[in-house]
Amino acid sequence: MKQQRVVVLTGAGISAESGIRTFRDNDGLWENHRVEDVATPQGWAADPGLVWRFYQGRRRQLHEVAPNPAHLALAELQQGVEDFVLVTQNVDDLHERGGSEDVVHMHGRLETLRCEGSGRSEHRMEASDMGDEFLTCSCCMEPQRLRPDIVWFGEMPMQLERIYEAVEDCDVFIVVGSSGHVYPAAGLVLLARKCGARTVLVNADAPQNLDAFDEVHLGKAGELLPGLVSGWLSEGA
Ligand code: NAD
Repeated sequence: MKQQRVVVLTGAGISAESGIRTFRDNDGLWENHRVEDVATPQGWAADPGLVWRFYQGRRRQLHEVAPNPAHLALAELQQGVEDFVLVTQNVDDLHERGGSEDVVHMHGRLETLRCEGSGRSEHRMEASDMGDEFLTCSCCMEPQRLRPDIVWFGEMPMQLERIYEAVEDCDVFIVVGSSGHVYPAAGLVLLARKCGARTVLVNADAPQNLDAFDEVHLGKAGELLPGLVSGWLSEGA
């Protein structure tokens, strides 16, 4: 695999062993909230206080969790492969803290907040940024309210052009910890396959789009990935 072009797509499952809950593990609820209430523009318009407090909770949680062996294994894979792109649906920072570089966060990030006026994102992880009160931006003359820098359902994922280009050109496409429910991320494996890539899945259980994979490894990412990565890096090609 060393000389091949590799794209990895991760989902909430890769962070599950670090203690961050996924969506689907809990009857479609995210930390006891309906996804429509906390992860849509309509939810923000209806009750911004609830949505703000929800994401402030997710942001504070980043201080309590650490990368697990699956995050570390992907950082090792990146070091060993010439052409590598890591795309994540996750909004946490565990890939970066596990050593991965240049991670493409297609659904946004928790460490940044976005100005509702200008649309600019700013890094806001000081202790004074973590409370339940709304925060304002530092980019506008008259400071505007900040919103979570998250791609909600119904909004356009980030860096799609770069993602499609990488997927169309790759030789190997690996998905880790994703249920295959959320589009367009779930459709990337079909694009990779159509373009001739070998498709590989590492997931706790069979996802919705199981048929799209050439190679399937069912189990916990933190237990499976370190061994798989060692094997891939010792492959001849
Ligand atoms: P999902 O919650 O829909 O599915 C998670 C998948 O991971 C499931 O198929 C489950 O079987 C699998 N899984 C659970 N534990 C695992 C483990 N230890 N090892 C391997 N697989 C495991 O997640 P999704 O497909 O990423 O889509 C949900 C959306 O939720 C994403 O858009 C994401 O932005 C958001 N989200 C992000 C986080 C995070 O940043 N950590 C957490 C929850 C939800």
